[in-house]
Amino acid sequence: MSATDSDTIVAIATAPGRGGVGVVRLSGDGALEIAAGVVGDRPLHPRQAHFRRFRDERGEVIDEGLVLSFPGPGSFTGEDVVEFQGHGGPVVLDMLVRACLYHGARQARPGEFSQRAFLNDKLDLAQAEAIADLVDAGTQASARAALRSLQGAFSEEVNRLVEQLIQLRIYVEAAIDFPEEEIDFLSDGRVAADLRALLGQLDRVLATARQGRLVREGLTLVIAGRPNAGKSSLMNRLAGFDAAIVTEVPGTTRDVLRESIQIDGLPLNVIDTAGLRESPDRVEQEGIRRAYEEMRKADRLLVVVDSQTGVEALKEPALLLPDSQKQLENLELPITIVLNKADLSGMEPGPLDGHPDTFVISATSGEGLDALRDHLKAVAGYQSTDESPFSARRRHITALEQALAALDKGQRQLGDHAAGELLAEDLRAAQKALEDITGAFTADDLLGRIFSSFCIGK
Ligand code: GDP
Ligand code: ZN
Repeated sequence: MSATDSDTIVAIATAPGRGGVGVVRLSGDGALEIAAGVVGDRPLHPRQAHFRRFRDERGEVIDEGLVLSFPGPGSFTGEDVVEFQGHGGPVVLDMLVRACLYHGARQARPGEFSQRAFLNDKLDLAQAEAIADLVDAGTQASARAALRSLQGAFSEEVNRLVEQLIQLRIYVEAAIDFPEEEIDFLSDGRVAADLRALLGQLDRVLATARQGRLVREGLTLVIAGRPNAGKSSLMNRLAGFDAAIVTEVPGTTRDVLRESIQIDGLPLNVIDTAGLRESPDRVEQEGIRRAYEEMRKADRLLVVVDSQTGVEALKEPALLLPDSQKQLENLELPITIVLNKADLSGMEPGPLDGHPDTFVISATSGEGLDALRDHLKAVAGYQSTDESPFSARRRHITALEQALAALDKGQRQLGDHAAGELLAEDLRAAQKALEDITGAFTADDLLGRIFSSFCIGK
């Protein structure tokens, strides 16, 4: 699709609900003409704000506000773009959208503005994904990482790797084209050295991307234990001075309570098990079944025990969990045990000697919490550094791993029998995997899936 054959799309760009200002965005060939239908024919100067009345299809005034035009290709989407800034009421903005539809626009699909920016080469795929990640960011660290990706930090690394791969491919393919010299070409050490360097760089990019994904998605913990063991107190403690950030994220099922907190920039998604109980009620059983389904995807189980009664229980893991939570054992998640209320039991706060992944704390006094925090960061593989990583998604990590595997294989081929053809194939596969990240040759259905997960208006 190019800027010249697109229909014109419209959507509310600001969050749903009321706000001081609401923005409706148009993009496409007809944007300026449609805008003229809404605000009249007086000329709009590019990138300047004009105060105008917005009118509906019958010519009645809906609202008044600012209208701005951004002619393509120097716009976000690369097409002609017009933005209306009106009063941020849902009804007003709906009427404005309807007026645009009347004058020939079509309602935008989710992510369609970003998709057009991608198709018009204003952004690559990793950058477009970073827009969605920036908007969805739940912590400052993930917002910073998304911005770095949006500004191209991740794409640059990937493009540099691709560039080096292409150089190497040219060399190897040339060797294949001159079979009598192939062996010399491949055994002159240059190919092996270049491959080694590439592998090293790819490794570093992968490590940064893994941090970026962690910053975005965090560690998901299931918190369990008997009533009054101190689960809620521990959560509040972990949230620390950021307690205001403690929010209840509506679970996908009514029995799962999710909370989101962060430790040193690492998001912790906590699934509370308070709702788990045995119940004869069919609907409730279904809810609980789904709760377990969701917990299965967690990274770790955190069992809180009252250290006044619980030390004995450590010898008998079955005693750690109340009957209603016994099924948690079947999830086979790695477990961290927290012995709480050290201030009452007199146990010494900190890691418990002789028991791996077991910590004595007092949620009330905060003692032992630092060791637990460090432990959670360590099991997540999180390093809190000042240097912020770029944001990355599972899709990106998978692609980097595929590229790494292909290069690794290529390196072994080279060592084994200097097989140029096979090496060339591995290099090609590595390049393809990397280009999937920036979307250079990404299949349409994957693109569709990625963009449709964005909000409407993005
Ligand atoms: P939950 O049912 O597991 O969520 O437990 P709560 O966090 O609601 O705590 C139950 C009770 O134990 C509350 O009265 C807390 O104030 C108290 N409590 C929690 N942690 C500690 C602790 O470390 N020391 C003391 N002394 N009391 C605690
Ligand atoms: Zn509680």
